[in-house]
Amino acid sequence: MQRVLIIGGGAIGSAIAYFLTRRPGSFAVTVIERDPGYRQASSALSASSIRQQFSTAVNIRMSQYGIAFLRDLGATLRVGGTAPDVGLTEPGYLFLATATGAAVLRENHVLQRAHGVDVALLAPDALQARLPWIAVEGVALASLGLSGEGWFDGYNLLQALRGKALAQGARYVQAQAGGFARAGGRITAIQVETGESLPCDAVVNAAGPWAAAVAAWADIDLPVRARRRTVFSFSCPRTLPACPLVVDTTGAWFRPEGRQFIGGMAPPAEEDLDDLPLVAQYDAFEASFWPALALRIPAFEALRMTGAWAGYYEMNLFDHNAIIGLHPDCANLYFANGFSGHGLQQCPAAGRGIAELIEFGEFRSLDLSALSFQRVLEDRPLVEKNVI
Ligand SMILES: Cc1cc2nc3c(=O)[nH]c(=O)nc-3n(C[C@H](O)[C@H](O)[C@H](O)COP(=O)(O)OP(=O)(O)OC[C@H]3O[C@@H](n4cnc5c(N)ncnc54)[C@H](O)[C@@H]3O)c2cc1C
Repeated sequence: MQRVLIIGGGAIGSAIAYFLTRRPGSFAVTVIERDPGYRQASSALSASSIRQQFSTAVNIRMSQYGIAFLRDLGATLRVGGTAPDVGLTEPGYLFLATATGAAVLRENHVLQRAHGVDVALLAPDALQARLPWIAVEGVALASLGLSGEGWFDGYNLLQALRGKALAQGARYVQAQAGGFARAGGRITAIQVETGESLPCDAVVNAAGPWAAAVAAWADIDLPVRARRRTVFSFSCPRTLPACPLVVDTTGAWFRPEGRQFIGGMAPPAEEDLDDLPLVAQYDAFEASFWPALALRIPAFEALRMTGAWAGYYEMNLFDHNAIIGLHPDCANLYFANGFSGHGLQQCPAAGRGIAELIEFGEFRSLDLSALSFQRVLEDRPLVEKNVI
């Protein structure tokens, strides 16, 4: 049996472990995860939303599989008599564009419709009629997802994938991986902090925001960095009926979360440094986030912040898209990294894709070769215009 070691047991590593163990007897899968509490893992600190409104075909296709997987998850990831529930709800995403951004929204719309995405372009008056609680000043065009978009409990998704992988025979080892033993262009073992060495036939880098350090053990430069993002939670005395996840023209986003809301905004580029401590940036709420929201949603003038947390985007600085597959310099090190803020929704497609690559040497269900490492080496960015 092929021994596969996966470094990182977040949503990506656990999805890969789940898909690899679906057919008993093919692989001996071990996931090396240093923190079973996932205190700093992106999968536990995510906004856990899913959209179809991407600007690249491969991202659209991955999310189409993602939503199908989430809808069926209770049956697919059932263990014994227990069916997991991730509380998927599908109120859509709403992207707002200024006159400058409207052309991009139209361009994306053509691509999305060509892939069967259920999405509508709305002029400001149509938007106002549909969602009367929005102020449309400065909005030239809006794009609203009508199905297949919404949010879910990301931590439960991670636990459901992990639980099913375990039930199918995967092993989770609590340890800090610290290096590779290599011979003849292959990795032969992973060294863990205890001094132990775990032999392997294939290795997957699923180390999320810490993936570049793992790649460096094989002398591979992975352009993925940990970039802190703060998510605020807040309450509002007024309700916003049929509220989707709204992405404002300023880049600020928010969505309902139970009876409250959550939202955030990327920091200015000059403050967006690598590996900042995971401390929520409370100051940004009053300085930039709330003012942007209150202009767009007049009811939010009366909102009250109820909390905040920070998590790392595992940002692919090259083109803000995942890197999935092998690197030419190492025959058995698979990458599933750099999801840049859309990795939870992509974990089913990425997990299935990596499992197929390991088993068959090629993608069988969905061609993910547009996300190969090769594009980085050849300097061919696959630019995703809809990065939140
Ligand atoms: C604030 C925020 C909002 C987000 N919103 C969304 C969203 O709305 N929709 C969406 O799809 N995605 C979203 N994302 C992105 C998504 O959460 C991530 O892309 C996804 O969770 C990445 O999963 P992962 O398994 O690769 O990483 P992680 O969940 O970080 O898992 C990596 C694991 O590797 C382990 N590890 C690392 N190095 C080692 C080592 N050397 N030895 C042992 N273990 C190691 C870590 O302990 C960690 O548990 C968001 C992320 C953040 C931070």
